[in-house]
Amino acid sequence: MSMQILLMGPPGAGKGTQAKMLCQRFGLVHLATGDILREEVRAGTDLGKSAKSYMERGDLVPDSLINEMMQVHMGRNLATGFLLDGYPRTRPQAEEVEAFLAGKRASLGAVLRIEVDEESLIERIVHRVSCQACGAVYNRRTRPPRVEGRCDACQGALKGRSDDTEETIRNRLKVYRGETEPVVGYFRERGLEVQDVDGNAAIDSVQAALVGALEAAGTSSR
Ligand code: AMP
Repeated sequence: MSMQILLMGPPGAGKGTQAKMLCQRFGLVHLATGDILREEVRAGTDLGKSAKSYMERGDLVPDSLINEMMQVHMGRNLATGFLLDGYPRTRPQAEEVEAFLAGKRASLGAVLRIEVDEESLIERIVHRVSCQACGAVYNRRTRPPRVEGRCDACQGALKGRSDDTEETIRNRLKVYRGETEPVVGYFRERGLEVQDVDGNAAIDSVQAALVGALEAAGTSSR
């Protein structure tokens, strides 16, 4: 049976990096709402045009737009199995995920949360750059590429995100604490276990902890 996993955590916690590794290991499709939205903005679609100003401010894009977008992506990848990264971010979005899965006779296999202290998050995001070609993420301070401005894996150009400024980051963290953290309480109320993993450790140690948590939740590597 396919699995549906949810990875939560504040901006800069390393969700994208960890999600890619988990998806490779467990054969899941990585559904990152931020990446999907940035692609819509780049392509100039109606959704992209509506989402752009919210994203630039670090505010959440309205639930109705996000839910509609994610229904399509979840539906398309249900048979393979997927990992949700950056969704749900509000209680109405969480309700939508549950209702969508219930309608397909499926349910969330595990909810994982990466926790990192706030000042480290800001430090990480301000120095974050990613490859425009393959999406690999680097940090100019703590995890620099071998050649400045070039991806180690594919030599693509590295660039910072336009919403990775200190002011926007502070707003995104505020929004996370106010809107997204309560989603954990919602899942717990619903009897779902949310497994916390310390994201301050090195990338490989965090990955090992996440794999351990997934295996403990009854999911085995393929
Ligand atoms: P991320 O790449 O996850 O940091 O997301 C970048 C931006 O996309 C966020 O600051 C929001 O403006 C928007 N976004 C991503 N996921 C969601 C979501 N689930 N709900 C609302 N807005 C979102």
